[in-house]
Amino acid sequence: MRKAIGVDLGGSHVTAGIVGDDGSILGQYEQDIEDRSFDAVLGAVKNVVDGALKDGKAKDAVAIGIGAPGNIEPRSGAVLYSPNFLWTDAPLGDRLRKEYSLPIFVANDARCATLGEHTFGIGAGTQNFVLLTIGTGIGGGIVSGGKLLIGNRAGAGEIGHHQIRPTDGFICGCGKRGCFEAQASGTGLIRHAFAVAPSFPRSKLLDRERDKLGSKMIRRAAQVGDAHGLAAWKNFASDLALGLANIIAFVNPEMIALGGGVSTAGEFMLESVRDRVDELTTMVPRGSTQIVVAKLGNDAGQVGAATMAFQGGLTPS
Ligand SMILES: [Zn+2]
Repeated sequence: MRKAIGVDLGGSHVTAGIVGDDGSILGQYEQDIEDRSFDAVLGAVKNVVDGALKDGKAKDAVAIGIGAPGNIEPRSGAVLYSPNFLWTDAPLGDRLRKEYSLPIFVANDARCATLGEHTFGIGAGTQNFVLLTIGTGIGGGIVSGGKLLIGNRAGAGEIGHHQIRPTDGFICGCGKRGCFEAQASGTGLIRHAFAVAPSFPRSKLLDRERDKLGSKMIRRAAQVGDAHGLAAWKNFASDLALGLANIIAFVNPEMIALGGGVSTAGEFMLESVRDRVDELTTMVPRGSTQIVVAKLGNDAGQVGAATMAFQGGLTPS
């Protein structure tokens, strides 16, 4: 079996997986990221890659794939813009090529996760597939006609930054108002909870310090029928459904998979959006897009980055 190293670089930690060409993960090396400066993050990436390469299971690894947040120049692997790290023109690919003799490929983390879910996960066998990774933000990737869409400047699939509430929405990390990501991510759910809080002065959710309120607490409160939790969840689900219906109008996929942290809400989340998505679907047959929970979980990014490494880029070279 051929092996590659697949690295998933996130805002708070980085993981390097030793991945077989059947999509299996043979070993994983992780490190937390506290300092988000380029040199510190580069050091963390090197640590986990070194750990993986020293592992006997990585013997004869053929290449290294890195999924990183932001807009990434495919040839050089430079991170042109990453609001998560506050980097511009960070030469991630070139600096890693100085360290390793293996071929290095760098691409957007959500695009890598989409490649992983489409090749080895819930999207396997589909021709038209969309993955959304819903966590602190919303990442996306689109497979159309069996091929991952890259776009003119590697920006296809930035679904998180289409505006769904440009006049009354929350401010997004990208600077716009009411982006899908600002409204329907885990962070969005928290903001919805604060937005409706004045109507629930005795809410148990407000018994803690403001920065301690997490999206999971709100979802759990909604699941047990707490009025404040339900009101926040209803607004969140309404915005999520709006974005999903827009994706159906643009891409007409046979499947949209929801991955990332918030997707642990599973069936509860799917049930909250299905009817509304159907109502908002007008020009294609209703119900013709399956909305499902992704399968590879947190491994999708590593598996996809390794898949990119095997095939020599996000799309086969
Ligand atoms: Zn945005």
